[in-house]
This record gives sequence, C-alpha cells and structure tokens, in this order.
Amino acid sequence: MGSTERIKNVAKRVAKWARAGHQMVVVPSAMSGETNRLLGLAKELSLTNPGDMHSRELDALAATGEQASSALLAIALQAEGLSAVSYAGWQVAIKTNSAHTKARIESIDDKKVRADLEAGKVVIITGFQGVDVVGNITTLGRGGSDTSAVAIAAALKAHECLIYTDVDGVYTTDPRVVPEARRLQTVSFEEMLEMASMGSKVLQIRSVEFAGKYKVPLRVLSSFTDWDIDIDTEAKSGTLISFEEDEKMEQAIVSGIAFNRDEAKISVLGVPDTPGIAYQILGAVADANIEVDVIIQNISKEGKTDFSFTVHRNDYAKAMDLLKSKVLPELKATEVVGDAKICKVSIVGIGMRSHVGIASKMFGVLAEEGINIQMISTSEIKTSVVIDEKYMELAVRALHKAFDLDQAAA
Ligand code: ASP
Ligand code: MG
Repeated sequence: MGSTERIKNVAKRVAKWARAGHQMVVVPSAMSGETNRLLGLAKELSLTNPGDMHSRELDALAATGEQASSALLAIALQAEGLSAVSYAGWQVAIKTNSAHTKARIESIDDKKVRADLEAGKVVIITGFQGVDVVGNITTLGRGGSDTSAVAIAAALKAHECLIYTDVDGVYTTDPRVVPEARRLQTVSFEEMLEMASMGSKVLQIRSVEFAGKYKVPLRVLSSFTDWDIDIDTEAKSGTLISFEEDEKMEQAIVSGIAFNRDEAKISVLGVPDTPGIAYQILGAVADANIEVDVIIQNISKEGKTDFSFTVHRNDYAKAMDLLKSKVLPELKATEVVGDAKICKVSIVGIGMRSHVGIASKMFGVLAEEGINIQMISTSEIKTSVVIDEKYMELAVRALHKAFDLDQAAA
C-alpha cells in the first residue's frame, strides 16, 4: 500500500469479498518504504548498533507504520460504506515474548475480534507487532506481517489466509535467474518451507512454519491485479500452499530449484578421529551463536579425518577466527581452510520420497555442465549441493530444464 490511491484499491477489494458474504480480518503491512524510513530516522539519531541499545524504542517506532496503514484502511472501508474497525496488536491482544525486534507470538485473544465479526464488521489488525507480558510493544522481525496474518488466521480457524504481495505466487525458481520459471498452482507446505529457508523470499519463513504447525491453508497472490476481477478467479489465483498431498495438481517429482549465495564453506583438516571431535568443533561454533548448515565428515586415514561445514557468509570471518585461534590448537588439527565464494543449489520435491535416482540425475546434470560438487546433503524431499558461486546460474538453469520445470514455450 504505497499511496492513498492504493489503500482505496485495497478497500474496494476487501469490500468485494465482504459483500460476497465473507467474514474478514485484514492484516495490513506498513505503507511501502515506511518501515525503512522510520528505522532510518532512528539511525540518524544514534550511531550505536541500534539492535542492542534501542531495541525497545525501535519497536515502538516501527510499529507505528502498521498502525497508520490500518487506521487508513479502516477509514477507506468506512468511506466505501462498510462497517470496519482497526486494532493495534496490543489492543487485541497479540501477546509475544519480549525479544524486541524479533519477538515470537505466544497467544492471541480472539474474543473482541469474533464479536466484531459477528456484528458484521471487517476487522483490521496491524501486522508485524504485538505486546509483551509487561505491556511493551514488540515487533516480529522484517516481513513479520506475514506471520501476524497466519497466526491470526490460525487463532480464528480461518478457511484460508490470503497473502497479497508484490509477486503473483511461488515459482519453480527465481524468474530473474531462469526466465522460463513457472508459477506453481499448488506447493506443499514442506516444499515451501525448504524453498523459503533457501532464500526464496516470498514469505517470511516463520509464517510458513506457523502455517505448518496450525495447518492454515495459505495462498500467495498478487496485490497488483485490478480489484474488480471476478472473485472466483481471484480465489483460485496465485499459489496455494497446501497440506493435502494427494490434492496436488502437479505431480512433478521435483517442484522447484532453490539456491542460496549467502553461505561460506569451512574445513578443519587433519583432526584426530576420536569421539567428541564433532562436538568440540561445532560446539565452539554454536557457542559463538553461529548457525551451521551442511556438515560433512570424511572417513579417517591413519587416525585423522577432515571435517567440513557451511555457515552464513556474514559469520564466515568470525568462525574462521575462532577455529584458527581456539579449536585448531586445542585439537592439534593440521589446518583450517575456507572459501566464501560458494553457493548452495537444491532440488526440492515431495515426489522425491517415492522415486529413486533423483539425486543421481542431479549429479549427472551437473557433471554434464562440468560443475564440480564440493559438498552434498540430502533430506527426504531435498538434495543440496555446494558448488563454486560462479556456476550458480548455470547449475540452476540446467537443473530447471532437466527436471522439466521450464514452462512450455508460448
Ligand atoms: N512493515 C514490516 C517490514 O517492512 C513488516 C512487513 O512488511 O511485513 O518489515
Ligand atoms: Mg511484507
């Protein structure tokens, strides 16, 4: 919602649904650019790392963006002739823990909301925020309105949670890398979780986790369609993130190719192959609050082995320092080496569960392109490889094609 013109458009769309007989709760995000603008103002006033020192006030500040858009939407709906009421998170109340700027929702009191719905009102609740046990305003992290919407849908046992956003659905891969990428009509919740965690940034990942936990059917659709398109067409547009696996309309074995450039690889070479080694290496890394992703330990030769793993690229320098200064001497390992110019490419699909040979097909495609695989990890519905960053686009395109994900030429 970038302007009052856009807010009017949203109001007309909501009115269309309400007049068709739907009880609705609308969860607006801030007007576009507003959260950045507000946080930018805070930066002008303080040079300290804002996250640490001012997090309570940052939340109070950022939450106003959604408060404004919610009230404006209520006004626009009333101007459309509907009965509408807006609430900030604390008024509902949406209770969260006290982790400012990254709070988690703990409970939602639905009494007021249900009463309003029964009275025929459209209820508008600010996205992105809640209130902690002592009354502080909290926010749920950037993109948190998605999570607010899913949590509210779960609390009210809504039929469906529609997320209107600036893309028109979930794609087989990023269309900026593969122009032939196709929009998926449905994707299973588990696939979506894999894709979202791999950096396909359509939804805040926590919203997908929430939807999974409470089985909220979630639809991602475009906010840029005309408000007056046919309601049944709109109801079927975008991508449905579903829990009904057999209802899956597209029976592809691989549903999408995900990739992530934000990782770096670290190897500790020549560590003694004795019990407790993995714990000594990764325990130190975890204690430094660094998350680890792909992990590989080789078989040992003459009592020594090599241990490799990936971390987020932002944590690379810190992890290397720690390993060189502390872990290397303690373990009497030979060497710590690393490479920040890697990427991870994954094929994702629930069909992989029931088909053999999918991973080997992936490796064959990469071999054909002359791409060296540095690490491999698998789960039931995903195979990931770590490769040189410079081959990322080539790998994604080749895999997209090989697994028949390219859309039919028009
Ligand atoms: N306004 C918040 C943000 O920009 C929340 C959201 O848009 O989902 O992060
Ligand atoms: Mg958003």
